[in-house]
Amino acid sequence: MADPNCIFCKIAQGEIPAEKIYDDGTVFAVRDINPKAPTHVLVIPYEHVEALADADAALVAAAAHCLEAAPGIARALGVTGAGYRLVANQGPDSGQEVPHFHLHILAGRRLGPMG
Ligand code: AMP
Ligand code: ZN
Repeated sequence: MADPNCIFCKIAQGEIPAEKIYDDGTVFAVRDINPKAPTHVLVIPYEHVEALADADAALVAAAAHCLEAAPGIARALGVTGAGYRLVANQGPDSGQEVPHFHLHILAGRRLGPMG
């Protein structure tokens, strides 16, 4: 169920314009508006699934689909050889801004240690 206050639901439904660089009807990908690396893409399920911590069936299915799509998106972006990082933020300490599950694909520079 779409959340009317959710920015990613609004992008999913075309209420906020964004160029979808990948779309398979279940998940889509857009470039991050505030990139943290030369390549920074978000893989977002159409369905509004929220907290990773709940890990309910809908979240698990959506997260699995994002993971399934990410390598092909990375290949299309030309970053497979040099490598990339997949990130899913959860909760305040992670800096999560949007409570609609998504994967970040970060690439294009040495990303350094996690932390
Ligand atoms: P997170 O902190 O994991 O919730 O990530 C949310 C990401 O969404 C941040 O990196 C934001 O820069 C990004 N973001 C917010 N609004 C938009 C938008 N309209 N289009 C693309 N990316 C966005
Ligand atoms: Zn949403």
